[in-house]
Amino acid sequence: MSRIGLACMHQPECPPADAADCQAAQVLTHCPVLGYSLLCNGILTFEDTGCVLPNGLVVSPRRPLPPPPVTDGHEEVDS
Ligand SMILES: [Zn+2]
Repeated sequence: MSRIGLACMHQPECPPADAADCQAAQVLTHCPVLGYSLLCNGILTFEDTGCVLPNGLVVSPRRPLPPPPVTDGHEEVDS
């Protein structure tokens, strides 16, 4: 796997930016005002769970919580 950006000094090593669990990397800088965090592997993550990869690719937000239920009576999905 190729690593983009700075070498990781953490133990265990952070996942690279192209890993499936890339957002599990250690946070280097957190900016609560702008609502983003810079991860060790160069990824910028936002509070809405979206992120920007070091290569400029934007990843859409993946909210861990389901959306609020729509109780209009005809689209109830039980997962
Ligand atoms: Zn690291």
